[in-house]
Amino acid sequence: MEFAAPIARWRKRITLLAALLVVWTGNAACAHEPMSILIVHSYEEFIPWNQSFTEGLTQWQTTHTQPVQIYREYMNAPELASSHDIDFWHDYLKRKYAAIPLDAIMGESAEAATLVHRFGDSINPGAITIYHTAESIALKARQVHLTPEIGELVRRTVDFAHRRHPNARHVAIVDGRSPLGEVAASHYLELLARLPNLTIHKLSDFTLEELAHQVSQLPPDTIIFYTLVFNDRSGKRFVPKAVLNRILESTQAPVYVNYSSLMGTGAIGGYLIDGATLASKALQATMDYHQNGFFSRSGYQASLALFDWKAMRERGISVSNLPEDAVLLNPPASFYELYETAIWISVAVLLAGLMLVTLRARHLSAINHTLNTLAMNDPLTGLYNRRALSPLISTALKTSGEGSPACLILADIDDFKQINDTHGHQIGDEVLIETAKRLRAELRKSDALSRWGGEEFLILLRDITLEESRQLADKLREAIRSDPVSTRQLTITSSFGVACLSGYSNFDTCFRDLDTALYSAKQSGKDCVKVAPPLFN
Ligand code: GH3
Ligand code: MG
Ligand code: MG
Repeated sequence: MEFAAPIARWRKRITLLAALLVVWTGNAACAHEPMSILIVHSYEEFIPWNQSFTEGLTQWQTTHTQPVQIYREYMNAPELASSHDIDFWHDYLKRKYAAIPLDAIMGESAEAATLVHRFGDSINPGAITIYHTAESIALKARQVHLTPEIGELVRRTVDFAHRRHPNARHVAIVDGRSPLGEVAASHYLELLARLPNLTIHKLSDFTLEELAHQVSQLPPDTIIFYTLVFNDRSGKRFVPKAVLNRILESTQAPVYVNYSSLMGTGAIGGYLIDGATLASKALQATMDYHQNGFFSRSGYQASLALFDWKAMRERGISVSNLPEDAVLLNPPASFYELYETAIWISVAVLLAGLMLVTLRARHLSAINHTLNTLAMNDPLTGLYNRRALSPLISTALKTSGEGSPACLILADIDDFKQINDTHGHQIGDEVLIETAKRLRAELRKSDALSRWGGEEFLILLRDITLEESRQLADKLREAIRSDPVSTRQLTITSSFGVACLSGYSNFDTCFRDLDTALYSAKQSGKDCVKVAPPLFN
């Protein structure tokens, strides 16, 4: 008896210690044992939806410290035809996970959710079961039902589309035999029916060919809302994105969707259910339930305002003033893309302008050249005329010192009047042209040769002495008389006066002496050269 009290005390103490130990080890187990969750998907691993789901799970894991062991299983819903197939999956999962302690089993989307609802307990009796679908399933203990708030997403998408297409008179809602798609479609119908002046086309019962045809027949002022289509009237199964592509090929109308995984096809976008956001929220909900033993909300927001900038531009939808929370797919990469058309129009206008200016400048320059030639050249012989030579002589007069002497030769065809009179004016012209040619042939490039008057030629020579000029004049005289000219075989002679510019203060005085020398040559019987006496010796 004496010992009873201490024993009872010790028993109490031991019980307390044991309890503490249990709590401590339990906590320690919680802290170190990862929560293990099996996620069963209805569709293949590599469809865009599942890829974005994977992305969301990874995001959650990188931003949370709680360890999670995730197992994934992918059914092939398009292949599931009978309850026999479901049984096959059930057996498979039961055997595979018999030895793996699972804390939770999640059925992701309709078929997988049905499987988990029916067989979750059988696969693992202790696990929480989580259904992630729009279908309502009657819940029991340790069950969670997750539904993205489709109604809210549809409302915001319709609101956006309605404001962007004020002139639309038709809407088409495309859905086909998928639980989430049907929920979305009923929201669309309800909202759109409230808007005035809209004809609603509901495309739900079709084969893919019929759908493409019906879409192609829609009036141009139609907005299309595409929910999800997994199979058609004939029972054929599809990946939803393939059906969407078929729709986009068949129409120019803008197409709005509900799932981020359907983007990049040419669809405009909208407020979308985003696989990544949804996955991370579903994982968080599972974790909450696992830790707290209850889950308070079944619906939650997993939306993403996602718009394809390129698709909007291609379908003529204003890309300005997008919602503030919008994420842009295919955003304008550069100033160039944003203003591509304007830039090209500007470039074209500039080039055209430049071409006009260039053509005009060329035209003007050609006219100038012609005018200049007409003004400075003798039309018959092509030689300089008086107007062209005079300024050259004035310049030479100023610079003609002893260092750089310049001289003039004046040539005059002998008895030219007689040639004209005997053979006609045309032969006279031929003689003038041939004489000009022979003079040019004997001169240097720097010598300026002009037709000074009727049959008179004045030549300006630079860097030359009076004697050299005389010799040159004699050579010219010889050149003119050497061979007969024209078909008439005329022997032409000419007389020359030579004078040096050095010492003269003006051209007129110099020219008078030059003319005197020529006159003297004519007086001496023509066909000869006479030199004006130089002012300097
Ligand atoms: P001289 O030996 O004294 O120089 O006698 P000339 O006959 O050569 O000189 P004159 O001044 O008496 O006659 C010049 C002629 O040249 C008069 C004019 O009709 C002719 N003439 C002037 N310009 C042209 C022309 O462009 N073409 C032709 N064919 N004749 C011209
Ligand atoms: Mg004359
Ligand atoms: Mg003459």
